[in-house]
Amino acid sequence: MSKVEDFLTQAEEQAIVEAIRVAETATSGEIRVHIEKSSELPAYDRALEVFHLLGMDQTQLKNGVLIYVAVKDRAFAICGDKGINDLVPTDFWESTKEIMASHFKNGNFKQGLIDGITKAGEQLKTYFPCQEDDQDELSNEISKGE
Ligand code: CA
Ligand code: CA
Repeated sequence: MSKVEDFLTQAEEQAIVEAIRVAETATSGEIRVHIEKSSELPAYDRALEVFHLLGMDQTQLKNGVLIYVAVKDRAFAICGDKGINDLVPTDFWESTKEIMASHFKNGNFKQGLIDGITKAGEQLKTYFPCQEDDQDELSNEISKGE
């Protein structure tokens, strides 16, 4: 379990992309997942970097959320844009992180990501309900690094 390609099967990836699509039907927030092997930076710092690399700071309401996973490091982080951070309490993502961590500990990465995405969508809904003219501002596809 050290290669990004071995982390999730094709079917698992599709299930995750579908979870993002469904989560985004309830909120204007935009959720993305980035998976890579390892990073020299702490997970959250790297997540912030990837967030900008992916242009996730370009949403209209500044409400993009990145779920970042470093497979080999067994580390992950959740990073939201300014629009979210300005509104929510500082422990906003704790419950989502706990759900993910409990699945990851058991090696259940697919379910950890799906439940994390679902929970993140529910959390976002309170502050960023879906808008009538909603657009898919950021791709739902999983982004993969080295
Ligand atoms: Ca959207
Ligand atoms: Ca999207």
